[in-house]
Amino acid sequence: MKENKVELPSILISIFILALLSFTFINANNYYTININENIDSLALYNIDNIDYIDLNVFVSALNLKSFFKRTQESFRIESDNSYAILSINSPFYRQDGKIYKMPFSPIYYNDLMLFPIYSIKQIFSKLLSSNASIDNHSITIKEQCIIKKIIENKKSIDIVFNHLPKYETNTTLRDIILFINKCGTDNIILSQKKKTGLLRAREIITDNNDITFILTYDPKMKLDYIDEKGDTLKLFFKERQTQPSGNNTMEIKTIIIDAGHGGKDPGAIGPTGLKEKIVVLDISFRLKELITANFKNIKVIMTRTTDKYVSLKDRTMLANKYPNAIFISIHCNASHNKNAKGAEMYFLSTAKTDWARAVEERENASLAFDISTEDKKGLDFILWDLAQNEFLKESSHLAELIQGNFEINTKNPRGLNQAGFYVLKGNYMPAVLVEAAFLSNKEEEKLLKTADFRKKIAKNIFNGIKKFLSDYEKKNQ
Ligand SMILES: [Zn+2]
Repeated sequence: MKENKVELPSILISIFILALLSFTFINANNYYTININENIDSLALYNIDNIDYIDLNVFVSALNLKSFFKRTQESFRIESDNSYAILSINSPFYRQDGKIYKMPFSPIYYNDLMLFPIYSIKQIFSKLLSSNASIDNHSITIKEQCIIKKIIENKKSIDIVFNHLPKYETNTTLRDIILFINKCGTDNIILSQKKKTGLLRAREIITDNNDITFILTYDPKMKLDYIDEKGDTLKLFFKERQTQPSGNNTMEIKTIIIDAGHGGKDPGAIGPTGLKEKIVVLDISFRLKELITANFKNIKVIMTRTTDKYVSLKDRTMLANKYPNAIFISIHCNASHNKNAKGAEMYFLSTAKTDWARAVEERENASLAFDISTEDKKGLDFILWDLAQNEFLKESSHLAELIQGNFEINTKNPRGLNQAGFYVLKGNYMPAVLVEAAFLSNKEEEKLLKTADFRKKIAKNIFNGIKKFLSDYEKKNQ
């Protein structure tokens, strides 16, 4: 009997606690997710009488909306640029943009918290949030379009101000910073600018529908120190360079990067009988690699692709810039509406000079279109390289000339040297040449390009040019 008396209150307490728990608890396994530009917040849910609620204050601030709570009137006002809503505690009626509506459950006031039923989130918040918010009973996902709002040049830093900081990758060369920014646009800022003084000497933006490649060329006396993120601003800090870059530095070429054009879903040019540029140029690239490794024991050969796979132009550039003291050879086959056009052409990076060079440039740059997910490719905007900024222009043109020379000797119809603004050459801070080995659009040359002999000859022509270039380079740097 004694024992029962002792037990009874503890049973009552247990029942009381159980009742309390079933009445309300923070639903630990059940969260409401707010995903704004991949920044994810998980908010606790409160289950009361089997209805899930969310803390309205926490919820509204996670969505960056304004709110005002009037305790005297027990009303809660939520505002955005698009809409406003006034909710009342314990009432299913609410006012939104001047009209009265009803929701299935009422907001409640509990333990000093204003709780809102999650089943009504969509009903009220779809008007408050922008149209690109997707809302359901468990999550809100908002993808804001990233925009570069302005670029501020300071004495020793450059600020790039976004509406919100995007995901980005950077690549630095001796004189440029290349920023690859996914899904971003620009907001009326000057896209291209060149000047002779100050920290920022040139800026150019290669933009398609969504993505941006941003090349900032800075004062050669300066050097990028570090990059910092502050709010929605990317801050690039510079310091003075101890030794200035100059053409007199003894620099030994250590790497040759062979870039077989196109690949995978991007076939490049296609011949009259269906021979694809991507296949031919990969074979030539392998032959060139063999020749280099057999003849130069101390030079490393890097290929941007070794299989028939698609490599974005961004990845080619990123890869190339990993190797200092390199030269870059991009191998392609030409195509023309003029079926009689034949021969080899060399290109080095610069502003396109002739209509012909411009046409080739356009075609090769069309690979960029494969990087674009949407159909609309009109936005492709190539702002071309600043000639004066490119220290390696002379080297590039010399290398192009030497390769061309071999084609002149070994091929009957050489076409010559050209300058063009190829994206793949852009941002490569090294001597860089694009070889258009022969015309796939020409019946005879397509037939030749199918033979191992002709491909071997092409590889040999390129190799001999490189060989001469390396020996000239060595002499110059002695
Ligand atoms: Zn090509």
